[in-house]
Amino acid sequence: MPKLLIATNNPGKVLEFQALLGGLPQLELCTPGQLGLALDPPETGSTYMENAAIKALAFAQASGLPALADDSGLEVAALAGAPGLHSARYSPKPGATDADRRVYLLEQLRPLPQPWPARFCATVCLAWPDGRTAFAEGECVGEITPTERGDGGFGYDAIFVVAGTGLTMAELSFEHKNQLSHRARAVQAMSAQLSAIS
Ligand code: IMP
Repeated sequence: MPKLLIATNNPGKVLEFQALLGGLPQLELCTPGQLGLALDPPETGSTYMENAAIKALAFAQASGLPALADDSGLEVAALAGAPGLHSARYSPKPGATDADRRVYLLEQLRPLPQPWPARFCATVCLAWPDGRTAFAEGECVGEITPTERGDGGFGYDAIFVVAGTGLTMAELSFEHKNQLSHRARAVQAMSAQLSAIS
């Protein structure tokens, strides 16, 4: 059975990719942990696409398997698109956690008038060990809420209200998030290439 490596070290993303790719029964999914791969490629690109390619190619070449990575971020209009590409590192505090980054983001927004429209973006890259790549994008629009709500998901989920639901991403069920998230939409847009892996 052909294998596909889920090319991320983020436990939240691993769980979501496993669910999103579960509908491809012809593929055996594996994770870096299962292969004993300890890689943390530097995200030196200046776009989601470049960073997704850096990660997917590094994992594909290290494993000899096709690998699927995403680069994603939260873009807040009132902050001129920040934290964007820097979402995973958006805090001045050394060793900051996801919770610290949510607090820091709300500190930046508090002086600014509400509402605070925002969107999550994801670019997924499917890479092969020989260097071939394919890309797809997804987005999920909504707004930042000043008070954390919900305990599902990861990252900024607890302060992002998904347009049309009234709920933060952390209040959505795992299944519901995986129907409408930026990552779900990007994986959906990649489905033809994923189905063709042999
Ligand atoms: P990267 O793709 O590894 O650069 O990390 C993207 C960062 O964006 C994550 O560490 C989270 O902070 C944030 N992020 C991306 N996707 C999500 C999501 O689905 N929910 C909440 N935060 C997310």
